[in-house]
Amino acid sequence: MNIEIDTHSHTLASGHAYNTIREMADAAGKKGLKGLAITEHAVKMPGTCHIYYFQNLRVVPRRQCGIELLLGTELNILNEAGEVDLAQEVLQEMDIAIASIHLPCYKGEYSKEMITRAYVNAMQNEYVDIIGHPDDGRVPVDMQVLAQEAKRTGTLLEVNNSSLRPEGFRVNTMDNCREMLLECKKLGTMVVLGSDSHVDADIANYEYAYRLLEEIDFPEELVANTALDKLKSSLKRNKKA
Ligand SMILES: [Zn+2]
Ligand SMILES: [Zn+2]
Repeated sequence: MNIEIDTHSHTLASGHAYNTIREMADAAGKKGLKGLAITEHAVKMPGTCHIYYFQNLRVVPRRQCGIELLLGTELNILNEAGEVDLAQEVLQEMDIAIASIHLPCYKGEYSKEMITRAYVNAMQNEYVDIIGHPDDGRVPVDMQVLAQEAKRTGTLLEVNNSSLRPEGFRVNTMDNCREMLLECKKLGTMVVLGSDSHVDADIANYEYAYRLLEEIDFPEELVANTALDKLKSSLKRNKKA
């Protein structure tokens, strides 16, 4: 499987990542990608950039180092109402937005019912294009409901390679991600592969994601980022009339 655009990465602006936009673009080009999404942590993540960073993204050229950049954010889902930490007016100006649960930023019960409700509610947001790493056993999800609602709302579900690393800090991610992919395969729900790289060397590293897709013989047509145009036309924000 060939992936043309990595849909999840961070730069220095996120506070715990280590390269500039230019360095990330250069590395992505050298790895043969046609595009890279840079999705900085939104404002409730400790140490990330100020809201002004997101409001000013229009000044950054979208072509650098021979590739196309999609500039956006990885939002924090804040509670079971699915609220996120940037306003709609800011989100609508971006190229792409992921919404994820990060434990330091989430207020609520960690039961399967409540976490599933948080994701389902976040997916109703017209500017939430992707649900990031819904694979962490510490915040359990009903994968059938997740895949159904993703399909209904046109939200993409992420296979996050960083989560799947055996040394990662999230819990039981391989089994949870496999269960998600099996539901997506059954229902025809689209997914994306994200490296979630916080350093240039990790861009387009899909070692564990590929292994999982192969293991369950996941259909390639349901992977949205095998082509740059396919990914762009699969983003909810670009599907509006
Ligand atoms: Zn994340
Ligand atoms: Zn991330």
